[in-house]
Amino acid sequence: KEKTLAMIKPDGVGGNYVDIIKKIILDSGFFITQEMQLQLNEDAVKSFYAEHSSKSFFLDLVKYMTSGSVLIMVLEKENAIADWRALIGPTDANKAKVTHPKSIRAICGFNSERNCVHGSDSPQSAVREISFFFEKSSSD
Ligand code: ATP
Repeated sequence: KEKTLAMIKPDGVGGNYVDIIKKIILDSGFFITQEMQLQLNEDAVKSFYAEHSSKSFFLDLVKYMTSGSVLIMVLEKENAIADWRALIGPTDANKAKVTHPKSIRAICGFNSERNCVHGSDSPQSAVREISFFFEKSSSD
């Protein structure tokens, strides 16, 4: 089975969306094989989102992502990476509300920054992001 990294961002955790998001995850056939709630610091966010370091929104993104705790999960199922991206919907939650009203970002996101969840966008990012947060287990 394929693994992907899912994150409920500070607005999702702070807005009490954890239970509803987990229900959507399980109802969609994913297994949550690892999970951890933590408060990210600036260095961790800068490193996690290094590919966006030159973007105009980078410092806002760091502020947002350090504004409260996040819930990190490893999700497993066949086609987990693409299926989780489809389930969360477009980056801009305002667009998601129009084009993908059943997506998670439509349900609990606010705009193009505060979009309540993250998902790895490729097999390479999934491997990088899972090992960013979790030690490799001996069965991997
Ligand atoms: P993620 O990587 O968090 O799953 P994504 O792949 O849909 O999101 P990216 O383009 O990788 O979107 O952007 C990473 C994050 O940076 C977004 O989820 C959002 O929180 C923030 N972001 C993206 N675009 C903007 C923007 N135009 N203004 C403010 N914040 C933004």
